[in-house]
Amino acid sequence: MRIVIKLGTSTLTCKDGLLNKKYISSLALNLNELQNENHEFLIVSSGAIGAGRSHLKVNVRPRTLREKQAFAAVGQPLVISAYSDAFAKYGKTIAQILLTRDDFDKRDKYLNMRNTLNTLIENDVIPIINENDSVAVEEINFGDNDTLSALVAAATNASKLVIFTDVDGIYDAYPSKSSIIPRIEKITEEIERLATGNSSSSEKGTGGMKTKIIAAKIAGASGVDTIITNGLKLNSLKNIVSGSSFDQVGTLIKASLRSFEAKKSWIAFSKKVKGTIFVNAKAMEALVSKGKSLLAVGIMKVSGNFKRGDSVSISNFENSNNKDFARGLTNYDSEIIEKIKGKKVLEIEKIIDVTDDEVIHRDNLVIL
Ligand code: GLU
Repeated sequence: MRIVIKLGTSTLTCKDGLLNKKYISSLALNLNELQNENHEFLIVSSGAIGAGRSHLKVNVRPRTLREKQAFAAVGQPLVISAYSDAFAKYGKTIAQILLTRDDFDKRDKYLNMRNTLNTLIENDVIPIINENDSVAVEEINFGDNDTLSALVAAATNASKLVIFTDVDGIYDAYPSKSSIIPRIEKITEEIERLATGNSSSSEKGTGGMKTKIIAAKIAGASGVDTIITNGLKLNSLKNIVSGSSFDQVGTLIKASLRSFEAKKSWIAFSKKVKGTIFVNAKAMEALVSKGKSLLAVGIMKVSGNFKRGDSVSISNFENSNNKDFARGLTNYDSEIIEKIKGKKVLEIEKIIDVTDDEVIHRDNLVIL
């Protein structure tokens, strides 16, 4: 079984902010046993900014981008050497992979990254993945490693995504923490509300439960089960892997029954959305119920500035409840769609050189 484990800063660092090497050793011990039973692991590890800041003995949390980037540059090698030392005790090799959103956005980069990760795993190496914080500027950053871990799980066809955090899972009531919801079949609005109320965001980490729910949605739509659990319960990994006595382990969020194939999952979640195409009800029905492509005739409005090949969101112009009901790769720039919206093919031919009959071909379209 292939498993992506996401570890947050609060799990990986001690109270003084320095890396908790004892914890990382115990993670290595647990993963070593499971790896010997032929399970495969990828680790998405935070901790760079926190470790860098503590190493430099800076007491306040960084606010500016350049501080965060500088701290990450100091902390990332410390994080990697902690993993490397811990796994070396068991004769295991780790590798460092630093990613930005750009690596997921461009199809060729995405496929390269996927091949690299797969090759590392085939060679029994555990990839230790983090955002490339020292260079990632706003346009290309994820901001939180929860989303990154879900995209990695989707890209590598993992079976499970384990998000280790500093709470035991999603509580069934807020603010009075009562008990953990053991299993969620589908993320409903009620669950989202509970998750937003629940908070795992400590002083050191980023994200909170909200980004974990977003991660679980991405993972779930790509066929990956998500487990949100307390990072201190490392010995629960055995139960998670075997799927036994789950009740004690945290919150399991089941993958959707209808999951996207790899390319569609990439279109839906990995590529950055550059704009929105608003369609009429008839076009929405053709897309959702009839499996059709998107034609210019059904388009009412365009927003954003995008180019051919970009990912765009599709919303219902007449009903705001159907906001962002689909995503797809556009065949035309936004400027051109502005000129041809609402028009039939014969009229369009008089306005532009038609390269494609569809604005978004069905093969490049995903209903969310
Ligand atoms: N990439 C950041 C770090 O290594 C952490 C982001 C997060 O906590 O989600 O410090």
